Amino acid sequence: MLPLKDKDKPVVQKLLSAGCCARCVLRFCCVRVQAAYRRPQQEILKDLQDFLHGPEKNQCDVSTDNKSCDPVVSEAAADPPSKRAKLETDLSDDGQAEAAAAAAAAIITETHCVCVVCLGVLQEFSDTDQAVKIAEAVKTEKYEFDSLVLSVSLPAQLCVREHSCWLHVKKEVREKSPLLDKEDIVPLKEAYKWLVQSTISTELGGVFVVTKSPLEVAVEFSHNPTDSDCHFLGSTCPDCFKPTKNKQSVFTRMAVVKALEKISEAKFLRHYSCPPTQPSSSCVLQGIQCLHQSVFIAGRYNKFCRSLPQTPWLIDGERRMESSVEELIAAPVLSAFRANGFNFSSSGREDVDVRTLGNGRPFAMELLNPHRARLNVQDMKQLQESINVSSDKIRVRDLQIVSREAMGRMKEGEEEKTKTYTALIWTRKPIKKEDIAFISDIKELTLDQKTPLRVLHRRALAVRQRVVHSMNTRFLDAHHFHLELKTQAGTYVKEFVHGDFGRTKPNLCDLLKMDTDILELDVESVDVDWPPSIQE
Ligand code: ZN
Repeated sequence: MLPLKDKDKPVVQKLLSAGCCARCVLRFCCVRVQAAYRRPQQEILKDLQDFLHGPEKNQCDVSTDNKSCDPVVSEAAADPPSKRAKLETDLSDDGQAEAAAAAAAAIITETHCVCVVCLGVLQEFSDTDQAVKIAEAVKTEKYEFDSLVLSVSLPAQLCVREHSCWLHVKKEVREKSPLLDKEDIVPLKEAYKWLVQSTISTELGGVFVVTKSPLEVAVEFSHNPTDSDCHFLGSTCPDCFKPTKNKQSVFTRMAVVKALEKISEAKFLRHYSCPPTQPSSSCVLQGIQCLHQSVFIAGRYNKFCRSLPQTPWLIDGERRMESSVEELIAAPVLSAFRANGFNFSSSGREDVDVRTLGNGRPFAMELLNPHRARLNVQDMKQLQESINVSSDKIRVRDLQIVSREAMGRMKEGEEEKTKTYTALIWTRKPIKKEDIAFISDIKELTLDQKTPLRVLHRRALAVRQRVVHSMNTRFLDAHHFHLELKTQAGTYVKEFVHGDFGRTKPNLCDLLKMDTDILELDVESVDVDWPPSIQE
């Protein structure tokens, strides 16, 4: 028996007459027993009739009560399998077995008219084979997972229809029973999930369908014929419908809910029929989308090549170098995590012709929609190894999975960090070892650096103060020496050496009183203590 009380009788009566499906009637009666929804619709309907009229009456009563429904029933009976068969083709390209099953199922489902509130969501979309379809869609993606969250997207007009039905019931039963609170109605999404989630779970080998999981399976329904149901709200509550950049329609579910909270009962009833009109077709299952939360990884990279940019180098849409640091790292990573894409970030970046030596430069990657997410320490070690054998231009260390929050630590206080470099310097005039010795005594040299000419196209013109903490020289020959520098992050070292036409002051030319240029530059260390180092 259904968990209904006498006070529910007028509600049940009203809703069935209005063209509500049996499960929507349970929702409006605030039935929260999940098992009650899982029984076949006909059985629930039969119980509702028994509840109204006593067990001796039969099902015909509802058809007579259900005036608006009659034409649809006869129409459907005249041409049963077509609508259902069309639906089946929309969802799957499987062959005849399904069509046969569909035809068989059609006889059952088409004897009912489409529910005025759920537009069929709790009718034909809630049976086992629909749940199996969702499970199949998840299976084909081959995720590694043990739980999922099911999210259901319903057309916004269902809120309008539910509101209309609620007013309809409220109006009727105000005197006879305590006021039905709209919040007490079991949400359609919830009832839908009760119906499909156990089958989905079983089909997927017992994974948990939960409220919080890294894997989201989104089921989207639409119903174009009734899209205009919402439109009157646009003129009655214009404040609620502000155009947004990304959305195609202003009638989002959120905006419609907000408008329905604001609109007075009288105004609503002037603009919208109560109960809602009978739809001639059901919702369409628009799609099933799976999305796994991003995984974040971090590490440090060395770059040993003077012709490798950090990120793909494009000029006017054309590629300049055949590869890049991020691509060399990303290829093995994407395949290990079976991710759809990535975002790469690093603690600063080096020029294409600059090597990064020492412990390397910290970097992090967001991996989008990873189909495999739980790599252990050993797996990460192997992944690092496969990156390192794939190219001799780069090397990666300390590769690890990190949290989204931890990523922020890489950028923290970036400006205050120090970097050490080695530069190969050329001098126009011949030099002796003692000519350059004084440079090692210079400490905490403050530079005024006007935005370098070479980056002016992408950075605003400004004068930035940067500090060269210390320097050291290693004499090579009459025109060459190595200059080691420890600088504040963000110092333009090349410009400090050649002066950039006087845009960096002071510069090495000023100090040595001769023209100098930089032939090679290596980053020796990036002093950011994140990510934590890993014992090799
Ligand atoms: Zn319904």
